[in-house]
Amino acid sequence: MTHASPLTIGQLLRTPLANTPGQEIIHADVMRYSYAGLWQRIRRLGAALTDLGVGAGSVVAVLDWDSHRYLECFFAVPMLGAVLHTVNVRLAPEQVLYTINHAADEVILVHEDFLPLIGAIAARIIRPVRFVLLQDRPGPAATALPLAGEYEGLLAASDGAFRFPELDENTRATLFYTTGTTGDPKGVTFTHRQIVLHTLAVIAAVGPVPGMGGLHRADVYMPITPLFHVHAWGFPYVATLLGLKQVYPGRYDPERLLALIAAHGVTFSHCVPTILNMLLGARTAEATDLSRWKVIIGGAALPAGLAERALARGIDIHAAYGMSETCPLLTAADMTASIAAPDGLALRCATGKAAPLVELEIVGADMAPLPHDGIATGEVVARAPWLTAGYLNDPSGSDSLWAGGWLHTGDVGAIDPAGTLVLSDRLKDVIKSGGEWISSLHLETVVSRCDGLAETAAIGLPDAEWGERPCLLAVLRPGADRAAVEAAMRAAIDAAIGAGTLSKWARPGRIEWCDSLPKTSVGKLDKRAMRAMVAKS
Ligand code: AMP
Repeated sequence: MTHASPLTIGQLLRTPLANTPGQEIIHADVMRYSYAGLWQRIRRLGAALTDLGVGAGSVVAVLDWDSHRYLECFFAVPMLGAVLHTVNVRLAPEQVLYTINHAADEVILVHEDFLPLIGAIAARIIRPVRFVLLQDRPGPAATALPLAGEYEGLLAASDGAFRFPELDENTRATLFYTTGTTGDPKGVTFTHRQIVLHTLAVIAAVGPVPGMGGLHRADVYMPITPLFHVHAWGFPYVATLLGLKQVYPGRYDPERLLALIAAHGVTFSHCVPTILNMLLGARTAEATDLSRWKVIIGGAALPAGLAERALARGIDIHAAYGMSETCPLLTAADMTASIAAPDGLALRCATGKAAPLVELEIVGADMAPLPHDGIATGEVVARAPWLTAGYLNDPSGSDSLWAGGWLHTGDVGAIDPAGTLVLSDRLKDVIKSGGEWISSLHLETVVSRCDGLAETAAIGLPDAEWGERPCLLAVLRPGADRAAVEAAMRAAIDAAIGAGTLSKWARPGRIEWCDSLPKTSVGKLDKRAMRAMVAKS
């Protein structure tokens, strides 16, 4: 009798356990153990959760910093046939409550730092919930919540020989919420099959690259994208399948992240541009050797100026693109592009080429595909085996997401004849001035290399004559001269307009200086908040 070998998350553990059982997993200064130890603990967690009533279809929520416990949950919860709800701990308490009720969580694993957050909303959780306490150091926790137990205690008392059930590969494995600019958060789910295929595709996309660029067996992995954000872009599954040494940093703090990179020889990470900007600006950055560090930047466009600063420190940096609904990988920039080549920097910062098994198109409003000539711009639509089937309990949102049989990204871009996608904007952030569409990303890129500029963002502001006019928000680097930086920014824009690479409509009416730029819960520039901020000023 044949066996179909379903693509389930548990299968990802087989190879590292056979080949590298002694490889290390480290959670900052909290925990350190081998892959064999990881497997022991996953089995104990499976047993402990089963004792708490978790079974097929149950939803188990986690509120934790990036820890070894979170990695254990990435496996044990879906391997039970249950759904792992990774809670975005940076959402407002009301939104956290909404997601817990919408997801119908039955068990909530909560780090003691988030007890006040959960305590404040617990009375309004609709379903009966069992709470499990997560702690970095044992000790009494100040909470009135009725706790079903403490994580380490539960694991210690559970069966290390626990056997997980066989599952259908189409069983739902994970759930998290994405926050649009309006309305309630939307639940995005992925199946075992989708996560396994995504894991393999990430390896095929970022692994086989000659030289330093690619991800390989000798790498030491540390996420700097929270584990609640699209499974840290799927990299914990990738790192585990490859049997890499893994370092989980706990709560993010720039100095501590740099110290962990140095202490454990971290060579591979991923993060949004703002986090890298923060790390490079940290007090200890100059003294830390970053010359063996490879970083994938995603979640927002990689500004050329930031890429140059990183490359100057010896960091091997390039961009990748995706979104919550796409698990997230869609494209990766060319990692082989030599920085010395004339287009090297642009290729590393480009949104990139479709990853294996990804189909990409740019379409007009009628869904007709536009030419791949590097000029025509339209909405990016995608197909791949791991794109979410739709939003949880939201048939109309799911229908719009998949209108016409393609997943709509809401991003605008052009594809060149070589297949490289360059995003120019979010549909809702594009600046429409004098009948022209101005790419806010392009405008940001042009000024991003000005010395003395810490951060910048372009937004459209309503204008009676032109519809909208571009406005640049800017943050000055400490000690820089504001007038000189502003002059340099205007000169860079004029030069780009003169060279014909930027439309003359892109010349900003205003440059607004501020202390910091508003960010979303996952550290991206929040342009809606910026528009509101400037409108008030
Ligand atoms: P999220 O669902 O929160 O992960 O946000 C996804 C969105 O982030 C995408 O739809 C893009 O607008 C943006 N994004 C992600 N990666 C990139 C990139 N490499 N360049 C430009 N924008 C990006």
